[in-house]
Amino acid sequence: MAASFDAIIIGTGQAGPPLAVRLAGAGMKVAIVERKLFGGTCVNTGCIPTKTLVASAYAAHMARRAADFGVDAGPGAVDMKVDMKRVKARKDDISAKSRIGVESMLRSTPNVTVYTGSARFESAREVSVGAVRLTADRIFINVGGRAVIPDLPGLAGVDYFTNSSIMGVDFLPRHLVIVGGSYIGLEFGQMYRRFGSEVTIVEMGSRLIHREDEDVSAAIREILQAEGIRIYLGAECISVSKHAGGIALGVSCSEVLPEIVGSHLLLAVGRRPNTNDLGLENAGVAVDQRGYITVDDALATNVPGIWALGDCNGHGGFTHTSYNDYEIAAANLLDHDPRRISDRITAYGLYIDPPLGRAGMTESEVRKSGRSALIGTRAMTRVGRAVEKGETLGFMKILVDADSRKILGASILGTGGDEAIHCVLDTMYAKAPYTVMQRAVHIHPTVSELIPTMLGELKPL
Ligand SMILES: Cc1cc2nc3c(=O)[nH]c(=O)nc-3n(C[C@H](O)[C@H](O)[C@H](O)COP(=O)(O)OP(=O)(O)OC[C@H]3O[C@@H](n4cnc5c(N)ncnc54)[C@H](O)[C@@H]3O)c2cc1C
Repeated sequence: MAASFDAIIIGTGQAGPPLAVRLAGAGMKVAIVERKLFGGTCVNTGCIPTKTLVASAYAAHMARRAADFGVDAGPGAVDMKVDMKRVKARKDDISAKSRIGVESMLRSTPNVTVYTGSARFESAREVSVGAVRLTADRIFINVGGRAVIPDLPGLAGVDYFTNSSIMGVDFLPRHLVIVGGSYIGLEFGQMYRRFGSEVTIVEMGSRLIHREDEDVSAAIREILQAEGIRIYLGAECISVSKHAGGIALGVSCSEVLPEIVGSHLLLAVGRRPNTNDLGLENAGVAVDQRGYITVDDALATNVPGIWALGDCNGHGGFTHTSYNDYEIAAANLLDHDPRRISDRITAYGLYIDPPLGRAGMTESEVRKSGRSALIGTRAMTRVGRAVEKGETLGFMKILVDADSRKILGASILGTGGDEAIHCVLDTMYAKAPYTVMQRAVHIHPTVSELIPTMLGELKPL
């Protein structure tokens, strides 16, 4: 069976569905293909379910802290239990609403035809989905990524979770061992500790989230350790084996460190693009050494008429960057508006509690750039809103170019940091000097109100 379209979209992540609707609205006949769950990673195994679980974990944490706020939670506070079946049911419900929403939106959009199955390039203009052959002059790839399974000795003989399979857990692991001390591993680590599990995080590098500044990594390590999470850094030689107590993890080749014995294992060592089984070679689409599809600043691949959006192009790795890829593709194609990936400022959150909000360059990147810069810092103990909420862990810092007076970057590790970072981000997008924000009157009491104050106390870096 064959069908011809104006555009084919492979994958229903964060870029594909809005692009399908936009192209169809412009009069194109669009085919969109999904092989698994509509909405992709964010909706089913990424942002939405994890942040839903983080919310349950926060509720448990605050229930335990009730007395700090003068609230007598009764005898239940001492013996507080998290009902993991209800936690999972809440998460499943929120995820499902989003997934069903994406699918029904696509199925009800005029000019859009939905295909379910694995899409594969047969040529630069032809894609197969099972026995069906689809052709189009424009093909958009939005296939996302999946968890890397590291080649650890002994792994084949033990059970383990990834960020996807742990979504099925409706019980409390007695002791969750997490391999990987970066964004995904830390979110799961704190969440399960707050649910009541023992948690050990094992990281190969010399510090957690090594892409962040050292002071940010150190502060996050302290926050997690204070909650009773065990953290092993510099685990150069990780091996796993079955153990009467579940699984045993060797972390050192020299055997100086004892084995870690846990009941369950979560692998969180990174992501890889879903490009290996797409038949890209049949279309001549180029990928880099790690399998990411090579694109130009407007998301075009090396093959005219084929674009790659979202995690599979290696420029981003976030829901907001994938959605922005949709905006860039649509603007160039339909609006004659030459939007570019390079217009984007790096920004993201780490959703431990307190969260980390990030924008632009880190301090270490600014130092490496060799430019003359100014820095402002403030501990969250000196932020009124944080004191009032009893959430004073963390700090914020901001970096400014000493010559242009433009903001270079900021890190806000603290309560509300994931929201407060946006006033910094928008000032950066406006290309305004930092003095604009310094003189702005922010609302009291907020975390954001101290950013102008911090900008008034800049020092040479
Ligand atoms: C645990 C976790 C937490 C995260 N938290 C955050 C967060 O808080 N904030 C944030 O911004 N980002 C977060 N992310 C990242 C975010 O989920 C992704 O960046 C986002 O989903 C964008 O993905 P995408 O659009 O590239 O594709 P995806 O969402 O990965 O979707 C790709 C789709 O393509 C389908 N597909 C693949 N191959 C084929 C094929 N051959 N044929 C047909 N269909 C195919 C897949 O089944 C999938 O549905 C998180 C990720 C994880 C794993």
